[in-house]
Amino acid sequence: MKIKDVHLKDLLEIHEDTAKLMLGSTRMVIMPADSIGELMEFIMQISDENMLEMFFYRMGEHAGQHDAETLKRDFSPDTLEDWLAMGPAIHSGEGIVHAKPEVMEVDPDNGHFLFKGVWENSFMAEQWLDRIGQVDHPVCTLLTGYANGYVTKIMGHEVEARETACIAKGDDVCRFEIRFKEEWD
Ligand SMILES: [Zn+2]
Repeated sequence: MKIKDVHLKDLLEIHEDTAKLMLGSTRMVIMPADSIGELMEFIMQISDENMLEMFFYRMGEHAGQHDAETLKRDFSPDTLEDWLAMGPAIHSGEGIVHAKPEVMEVDPDNGHFLFKGVWENSFMAEQWLDRIGQVDHPVCTLLTGYANGYVTKIMGHEVEARETACIAKGDDVCRFEIRFKEEWD
């Protein structure tokens, strides 16, 4: 499958006999974004921001790893680049964020990897601003975790995804940048 053919609404199947919503062999669920915001606020009340970030990063990382496996197994990406681009496309289809990749440089033989772009309308940043308010650092840890898990699973090499701009700290858009871990410094 090529990236241009990846539209989540066409790939999902609703099994009305079992009430299961399936993406290939993976069961999906839909819930209100506001309910996830409620969970964020609740974690802040009973613990702290560090705990909130850890929970959402880990959930995102797992989802990214899982999506990478599902897409490879059930939708056979034509190329490595198609496979890499499917993650942002699926994340956009899920309504989590409007992910717009801008640069993709894949050259593992020479130890180089760069994938970066814009995250528009991050629901996590919107919920954060509504419920917690503006802060001085990026907050979209669900997205950063997803990017990390997704790309690490595909490349078989540890990467680090960073959110380099975030509307929750006053930037115009959120921005992501993923590199091989050793390439960051
Ligand atoms: Zn953000």
